[in-house]
Amino acid sequence: MTNQIAENLEAIHAEIQHCARLAGRAANNIELLAVSKTKPVSDIVLAYEAGHRSFGENYVQEGVDKIAELKHLSDISWHFIGPLQSNKSRLVAENFDWMHSLDRLKIASRLNEQRPAFAEPLNICVQINIDEEESKAGVLPSELMPLLEQLAPLSKLKVRGLMAIPKSSKVKSEQLASFQKMHDLFATCQQKYPQFDTLSIGMSADLCAAIENGSTMVRIGTAIFGARD
Ligand SMILES: *Cc1c(COP(=O)(O)O)cnc(C)c1O
Repeated sequence: MTNQIAENLEAIHAEIQHCARLAGRAANNIELLAVSKTKPVSDIVLAYEAGHRSFGENYVQEGVDKIAELKHLSDISWHFIGPLQSNKSRLVAENFDWMHSLDRLKIASRLNEQRPAFAEPLNICVQINIDEEESKAGVLPSELMPLLEQLAPLSKLKVRGLMAIPKSSKVKSEQLASFQKMHDLFATCQQKYPQFDTLSIGMSADLCAAIENGSTMVRIGTAIFGARD
């Protein structure tokens, strides 16, 4: 029996290569994060057997349960990409390798305190509300630099870069403009923080536009695991 998930992964790697070539970039600088939210552990295992190692989860408890069930697959890298309430921060600090949706100092301080001493620092992307939408998570671009200064002393956090979910738009030029803003903001950050290496933008529907604008990590769910219920 063929493994549909393995086929999908292969197709997305081919698409990443194609988009990278169009953008004049090296595809090996673009990581594929498989977003497995709402999907069963058996789907993650199929992707793992196809050689995939990094997975993104949106819901804390669901993610923690999956991580526990797959503890024996110790080379998986687990990324938390959803909204986080401060009373659940410990679960993220103790279980995940990455957190993409950091948007306030209070959560950062808690994660820093709660990260176990024996663990590597938690990798962090700061989420940007790039289209300055009313009810969207993330810091405004103007709030970013002050927040980064407050994060710098937190030694159990390793700030790697930025993440955004641009406003969903059917107009391609609007979508591109959001990604361009992220690209510029990331470049500005890198002048002050040359260690920044991660720009987490691009999902199933807007992969190429994100890669054109410097994405180093695309977060893909539907195109790998199929539509969610
Ligand atoms: C669900 C989700 C994705 C994946 O979206 P698809 O459209 O299924 O590829 C990526 N990033 C975040 C933050 C998500 O919540």
